Amino acid sequence: MLDKTVTDWQAAAAELDIEGRAFINGQATDALSGETRPCINPSTGVKLADVASCGAEDADLAVQNARKIFDDGAWSAMAPADRKMVLVRWAELIEEHADEIALLECLDVGKPISDTTGGDVPSAVRTIRWSGEAIDKVYDEISPTGPGSLALVQRLPLGVVTAIVPWNFPLSTTAWKFAPSLATGNSVILKPASNTPLTAIHIAGLAAEAGLPDGVLQVLPGPGGSLGRHLATHMDIDGLTFTGSTPVGKQLMEYSGQSNLKRTFLELGGKSPNIVFADANLKKAANSAAAAVFYNGGQTCTAGTRLIVEESIEDELLKMVVDRARRWMPGNLLDPATRMGPMIDKGQFDTVADYVDIGRNEGAELLFGGGQVLAETGGFFHEPTIFAGVTNDMRIAREEIFGPVMSVLTFTTAEQAVEIANDSIYGLAGAVWSNNINTAHKVAAAVRVGTMGINNYFGGDITVPFGGFKQSGNGRDKSIHAFNDYTELKTTWIEFD
Ligand code: NAP
Repeated sequence: MLDKTVTDWQAAAAELDIEGRAFINGQATDALSGETRPCINPSTGVKLADVASCGAEDADLAVQNARKIFDDGAWSAMAPADRKMVLVRWAELIEEHADEIALLECLDVGKPISDTTGGDVPSAVRTIRWSGEAIDKVYDEISPTGPGSLALVQRLPLGVVTAIVPWNFPLSTTAWKFAPSLATGNSVILKPASNTPLTAIHIAGLAAEAGLPDGVLQVLPGPGGSLGRHLATHMDIDGLTFTGSTPVGKQLMEYSGQSNLKRTFLELGGKSPNIVFADANLKKAANSAAAAVFYNGGQTCTAGTRLIVEESIEDELLKMVVDRARRWMPGNLLDPATRMGPMIDKGQFDTVADYVDIGRNEGAELLFGGGQVLAETGGFFHEPTIFAGVTNDMRIAREEIFGPVMSVLTFTTAEQAVEIANDSIYGLAGAVWSNNINTAHKVAAAVRVGTMGINNYFGGDITVPFGGFKQSGNGRDKSIHAFNDYTELKTTWIEFD
């Protein structure tokens, strides 16, 4: 897989057979209205496929299917060891189709092929396999009652769950939702982002092949404002799991309150601090600082967009970071050497360009980048961009840009670094770089985020929970803890004569 050349991938892309229909009750299905929406390759601006655009009537049908199969118990009441076998087989099938799925994700999202082959696909496989493997190893509880009683505390599936996901990591976030919700016995309806529905549709077909009963997993592409809202306000959906922006997350909480108080778990935006002390390994910190913000074109919720540097090493570190930024210049997605792709669409490109103007107008110093590249491709490519001289009251330090834009701030004491890091509505992720174990631990403990790296950025795997503090969300994806979001605790109290 990793040995393929750009020519091999181009040939494979020309042969790709793309399914654009929804996946409802075990079948590839057109929207009842017959409506479709074009799905665009963001590196060329050219249409990849027409995709079903589902509406309320499709959603109602999917909810009926999901409820029926949940009540039947064909999946919800299946022994965990048997559910495990289906999920593990599904992971194997995704692995067997890895090249095709990686290519689809690359073209649909505009991710470099080396990212999707090396990251998104293996990560989805591992998530589904790990959750399947785990589900027959978790025990319920017996509470410490007195003699004469026995109290069982059981985890039961919520019922029908809807998952709404964004476009930046469609396959990974879909797997983060599917794996624990299905492992715990729920029926799941996924609404992918309108920009990037293709891999979710594809892997749903493989789930059926792996033996998942019809109606347990359904994928409905369609607009967030209508289809997404209909699902979020539906009276017969028990749980909502969401990854996306903070403003939409807030709306979903309101929808839950206005409808049936469905359990609502949110994974939202970020403006993550990456703190570098003078005693750190600066080469490593510089490599990582560039990757932290330029990976996936900065369209990453955990992107380390605020580089907070000890003043005494600012010049030295920034020289290195600018040097690393050159290596992230965008290129052909199908070339395995390419590290950065385009913005997802024209709207996102314009947002990034607007923030570059805002940064300039706010008085920050544009150290690197700031413009469009590869315009001749028809794609939405933006240069890796670095602003120095940023203060934490500037909009480029406070707002989630969701593009390859780094804001550099400075500090002189550890307390000041922590204060800057915590002065944000977000609390998703962060990192601290120091060779002093006391400094590193103290700062890591004081920064209010869900995931903190010490001498690394983006650390973590399926064994650890992932989610945010503050306005970065309230749920947890990954690890055994993710099972909590998809289950209710039920007490059964037994009295003996
Ligand atoms: P978004 O605009 O919030 O959209 C996310 C999903 O919600 C899409 O499927 C969208 O559908 C749907 N949606 C939009 N409005 C809706 C409504 N009123 N009711 C129901 N659904 C609605 O986010 P995005 O631009 O796709 O993704 C970027 C955001 O996701 C960033 O803020 C990023 O930080 C965040 N994110 C967070 C994490 C995490 O784990 N914390 C991970 C990845 C991304 P349409 O596509 O049809 O609009």
